[in-house]
Amino acid sequence: MALDFPFKPSLILLFYAFGAASSDPSAMASRQSSAPAQGQASYLRELSSFLDSISEDFWHVNTEIHRNPELAFQERKAHDLLTSFLAARQGWNVTRSTHGIETAFAAVFKGAGGDGPVVSFNAEYDALPDLGHACGHNLIATVGLGGALATAEVMRTHNLGGKVVLFGTPAEESGGGKIKMLEAGVFRDYAIDVSLMAHADVAGQDTAYANTMSTDCLDVTYTGKPAHAAVAPWAGVNAQDALVLAYNAVAMLRQQSRPYDLVHGIIESGGGPAVNVIPDSATASFMMRAANDADLADWTGRLIKCFEAGALATGAQMNLTMRPNGYSNHRTNDVLAASYAKHYNALSGAKGTAETLPDAATAKLKPPQASTDQGNLSWEYPSLHPMFGIYNDDGSIPSGAPHTRPFEAASGGRSAHDRAVLTAKRLAAVAVDVLTVEGMLGEVKKEFAATMTFNNVAFR
Ligand SMILES: [Zn+2]
Ligand SMILES: [Zn+2]
Repeated sequence: MALDFPFKPSLILLFYAFGAASSDPSAMASRQSSAPAQGQASYLRELSSFLDSISEDFWHVNTEIHRNPELAFQERKAHDLLTSFLAARQGWNVTRSTHGIETAFAAVFKGAGGDGPVVSFNAEYDALPDLGHACGHNLIATVGLGGALATAEVMRTHNLGGKVVLFGTPAEESGGGKIKMLEAGVFRDYAIDVSLMAHADVAGQDTAYANTMSTDCLDVTYTGKPAHAAVAPWAGVNAQDALVLAYNAVAMLRQQSRPYDLVHGIIESGGGPAVNVIPDSATASFMMRAANDADLADWTGRLIKCFEAGALATGAQMNLTMRPNGYSNHRTNDVLAASYAKHYNALSGAKGTAETLPDAATAKLKPPQASTDQGNLSWEYPSLHPMFGIYNDDGSIPSGAPHTRPFEAASGGRSAHDRAVLTAKRLAAVAVDVLTVEGMLGEVKKEFAATMTFNNVAFR
């Protein structure tokens, strides 16, 4: 996807042109008539000192979520903790279980300065089976909560207009919570203009660009006919053979796959009751990924032929089910990313924060990895989903990436918490830019519209 932008050069020009204009404090006069004409550096200082002042409160929220990992759509403790925290703060209107989704919520702070942009943050808080918070979603919740509260504080101090909304978005690891929220009209009803969040990674992987893949899942069951494997094998239909054939056909197809076409699957059952009985049932689960939705549709179609081949060759009946809520690739809004890079650099160099971001052109070339339901949101609203690196508390880099035990341990540490708070400062600064920089939201939307067609461009 990012390798194949036909008019990428013009977008990069826009990106740098905007970044250059934004870096001049004199050009940053507020669009809010009641706010002082001050540069964003001042806002950044305010965001920073506010978040430092409440960092201990966040530490409690962060560690409570980390210590109580909850799976998709069961995140009741996290939901209650976050909504109670928000409801106790002045000016926040909290809707628990918004739109009937039990562990989702929306919290709104309305600026006193009238209408204006609606900036939104997402807080994820679901965990992984057996591994707990090995994806660090407790840190995503921390960034979202901190980013939203800090933005609101600047709005309050300067009488800004507009709104900031914090969404609690359950079930990212499985279940597609944001897709359910999209379908329920949550983001539409809160009329958001931009969607902001950030995800942890191991230290050294910081980027403003989350290049993620489109993904779908399927379940396949073959049904055959049992028979004595020696007395009358011809009377049986071997479901296990159907699955083994399909599995091997998938393995062969990999040779003809595009660079970002992936497939991984597990055989869930198929052995039958005994070695001398022809197995009459076999099941498997597969996950497909590709650079974008168009490639994924093509890739999935080719894989389904492999499953059909297993049924055709053996005579077994195939029942193939696509799981709902596939994830789309994430596209990063260049204008929001430029703002983030600017604030990232402004806060870089403080204790333990010396990393640098790759420039936009380099970041876009990084091959896509993993998948997120923020991808689906990014095709509906301008999105920013930076990755931020974390350390162990002894200063070492976690020995495992997300979805490993070392990353789970690091995610619960004080060092990772401090990283999340730092990221909240940077992300809140992007939100304040959207609220205060004349013309920025227009540029964000222009870039969003200009890149809409890329969803249908297959990687070549
Ligand atoms: Zn994950
Ligand atoms: Zn994650």
